[in-house]
Amino acid sequence: MYECRSLKRFLSLLLLDAVVFSICAMFFFAGRNFFSSSADSGIFLPVIMYHSVYGDTPEEYIVTPEQFENDLLWLAENGYTSVTAQQLTDYVNNIGNLPEKPVMITLDDGCYNNLSEVLPILEKYDMNAIVSVVGQYTDVTAVNDPHIPAYSYLTWEDIEKLTDSGHVEIGNHTYNMHSFRGERQGCAKNQNESESTYMELLNNDLSRLQNEIHQHTGKLPIVFAYPFGFRSPEAMPLIRELGFTITLTCTEKPNYITHDPDCLYGLNRYNRSGLYSTGEYMQLIMNNS
Ligand SMILES: [Zn+2]
Repeated sequence: MYECRSLKRFLSLLLLDAVVFSICAMFFFAGRNFFSSSADSGIFLPVIMYHSVYGDTPEEYIVTPEQFENDLLWLAENGYTSVTAQQLTDYVNNIGNLPEKPVMITLDDGCYNNLSEVLPILEKYDMNAIVSVVGQYTDVTAVNDPHIPAYSYLTWEDIEKLTDSGHVEIGNHTYNMHSFRGERQGCAKNQNESESTYMELLNNDLSRLQNEIHQHTGKLPIVFAYPFGFRSPEAMPLIRELGFTITLTCTEKPNYITHDPDCLYGLNRYNRSGLYSTGEYMQLIMNNS
């Protein structure tokens, strides 16, 4: 009797062990697959780079509001969801998920038409975008021509409207280093200047705009867009220190997002030239090989 009871007990313990082992194995393999699919290959993320959106004459850096709307319609119909900078940052830090087909919409330079033309279309399709502004354009240039869609820049009041909408995050595009033909290429280090001189200059410029954006919107930007894509490796420690978790380049290549936060530094983007149709452009950027 005693032996029979212990045999039963032995068998039930064996069964329990087997069940526990199976459950552990299931979680182990499921977890391994989960991490390997996101850590090894990454999630494909196309990033669109717009500038000015107005009128009816498209150019390389100007798309018409109709083209912009067609783009969003194409994205919506093809199952893409626009992601915010915060969502991406959370994802790489293992907080939260990304949608099945993420896309990032960015607009550079802080054109006034990003409020007058772009925001209503973002709201219509319930999509988000990152608008990266140049401090001096807002502080100085925008004051003189506050509201002309063709060439004005966003005033601080306009920027507040964008952030209040909940559809736009503001990025930093330097306070006053948005220069292509001057002595310096964008905010890159000049060959003949010392690292300490460069770092001081860059810190003053980027911090000034960080502070102004924070002062006006209550939010500290986490996105930095390199003017014209020029960048120097020396700037990276400062960029991290100032709170940027994402930097945007102008290199036309696909991105793969992993759980490594460093994968958000140097995101590639495709310029949305108005000279392409929506179909042509989307074919270009959705080619993830
Ligand atoms: Zn720019």
